[in-house]
Amino acid sequence: MHEWSFARKLLQQATGICHANGARHCLEVRVQIGPLSGIEATLLESAFEQLASDHELAPTRLVIERTPLVVRCRDCAAESELSDFDFYCRLCGGRAVQVVAGDQLQLVSVTVDDAALMIKGTT
Ligand SMILES: [Zn+2]
Repeated sequence: MHEWSFARKLLQQATGICHANGARHCLEVRVQIGPLSGIEATLLESAFEQLASDHELAPTRLVIERTPLVVRCRDCAAESELSDFDFYCRLCGGRAVQVVAGDQLQLVSVTVDDAALMIKGTT
């Protein structure tokens, strides 16, 4: 159950960001999840919801954006967006590809009151 520890981590990060900006409540925490992150979005959502419900920042909503799986070809250097887990270059058909996006869980922004605080953090 990675999801619980990630949900806890996200809340901790959001709390730190809110405190640093003098905000008492966090309205929205936005994250991006890649298909290779090993995180089940629905499990993360429910874990976050339970942890956030009696948290000092409440009410807080978790918004999950799903990011595409992108690979780069070692032969022709083209980047392909994969819609399935079939790892090959869509341009030249080469199998020597490297994952460049889609394996991360990333905190994108935290919204306090009406302001979205843009951040770049990786959990
Ligand atoms: Zn290629």
